[in-house]
Amino acid sequence: MEDKNPSRFTGGPRTIYSFTNTFVVECPHCRNRAEVRKNSVSGQYEFHCYACHRCLAQRMLYTLSVNQYCPDCGYRLKVNLPAVKQKTSFIRLTCPDCDHTNKFTPTYEGCVLPIAQGGEIEPHFGTELWLQVPFGADTLWAYNYEHLQHLKQYVQAKLRQRQAPDFSPMVERLPTFIKSAKNRDSLLAAIERLTLKK
Ligand SMILES: [Zn+2]
Ligand SMILES: [Zn+2]
Repeated sequence: MEDKNPSRFTGGPRTIYSFTNTFVVECPHCRNRAEVRKNSVSGQYEFHCYACHRCLAQRMLYTLSVNQYCPDCGYRLKVNLPAVKQKTSFIRLTCPDCDHTNKFTPTYEGCVLPIAQGGEIEPHFGTELWLQVPFGADTLWAYNYEHLQHLKQYVQAKLRQRQAPDFSPMVERLPTFIKSAKNRDSLLAAIERLTLKK
């Protein structure tokens, strides 16, 4: 039977990942609204600013680590290089103990370098999310308008339906300040301000 109660949350089970195809962001060049979007053909994320049309390079950096033994003398070589721009399959290291140079296969940990400091960013170019506003000690943020709408629906709901038990819906992992009933009115006002932000 269809539920006609508008205060019931009917957003359905969603995870945060279902909102990550598009990020509404602030263009770091002109400060206007821009987008980071997944190209459905290549699967790569692309930056688009409809105001200044300038490009943005991916800002992925890696921490390179080697923690292996020298094949000549057994000395343990430990190397950590932060902010490496490209992955390579091996690097040459000279053993400080026996002075022999050997090839080592490093491991990499990737992270995106934020363009701006402090705000919530998307994880591909490091640009700041457009839809974010301070809320007390917290920040209310959304990746895109669909995500914001989903939050609004959630906050508006007085009753919450249990979702399918084998799913972990996004709402169950929301921060406490969004779940708190006493914040409902001020949250809706903040969501409204974000919706209208130009
Ligand atoms: Zn721009
Ligand atoms: Zn050695």
